[in-house]
Amino acid sequence: MDYQQLLHQAMATALSAPGRGRPADYIPALAAVDPTAFGMAIATVDGEVFGAGDWETPFSVQSVSKLFTLALALAEGGEDADALWRRVGREPSGNPFNSLVQLETEQGIPRNPFINAGALVVTDRLLELTGDAVGAVRDFLRAESGNDAIEVDDAVAASEARHGHRNAALAHFIASYGNLRNPVESVLAHYYAHCAMTASCRDLALVGRFLARHGVRADGSRLLSRSEAKRVNAVLLTCGTYDAAGEFAFRVGLPGKSGVGGGILAVLPGRGAVCVWSPGLDQAGNSVLGVAALDALTTATGWSVF
Ligand code: GLN
Repeated sequence: MDYQQLLHQAMATALSAPGRGRPADYIPALAAVDPTAFGMAIATVDGEVFGAGDWETPFSVQSVSKLFTLALALAEGGEDADALWRRVGREPSGNPFNSLVQLETEQGIPRNPFINAGALVVTDRLLELTGDAVGAVRDFLRAESGNDAIEVDDAVAASEARHGHRNAALAHFIASYGNLRNPVESVLAHYYAHCAMTASCRDLALVGRFLARHGVRADGSRLLSRSEAKRVNAVLLTCGTYDAAGEFAFRVGLPGKSGVGGGILAVLPGRGAVCVWSPGLDQAGNSVLGVAALDALTTATGWSVF
């Protein structure tokens, strides 16, 4: 399999279609990104990594981090996974990632861990279990990618905090139902900081291998049981790209998590992980070229979980 060639072809196919979307600007620091940036990387389960375009340029991981907080909260919770699943559901929301509407009818239990409301509860759980949710995510990303330079971009975190009225509203609303264990301010600070982590396609593809390896980390130790890894992949497929998860499953056919920084990390179970980055977003907040490139890649290769 010539992975290098496949990446170049997938990117060329994506670029041949019209439509680029627009970078997120509701977090002002994100709007400063080069809108033409485009990169893609594959990391295989046996340790090879291939990349094309801007695959080594760090970008703001944003909601891709929600995948790592979920995996770490489940791992740290040990046998007691239900302690988390009682506080957050696992159904697609059919609503935008930052929506407030379902929270009231569903009594402060967010629909799934990948919308902002659910990710706030997961961050709270990870904070409860480790005392340092951001540190846990950073250490995990560094260890799996081998890149010790992965860090929080404080300017992005501060920019999001300054404009974070919606996330603050979500967190307070959840707290009003008794579904946060830590002070709202700490949960928000850890949430903004793990979203503001910067990493490249190379880094994230390397990190994503733990799901391709059914829960096994780069050093051979087990983070999640095989069953838990399968479940995380299932939630990624059904909820990882917000209210466009159906369209993503239709076009790409793989579990994947997107972020408003323009990154998407997708899992090829048993084979590896692929990360693509391009800042222009569609209406749902998913990278336009990113989805198109993954669509082209999986269409050309037949890679799918179906
Ligand atoms: N930090 C962003 C927010 O809370 C993450 C959103 C996203 O990437 N979809 O709005």
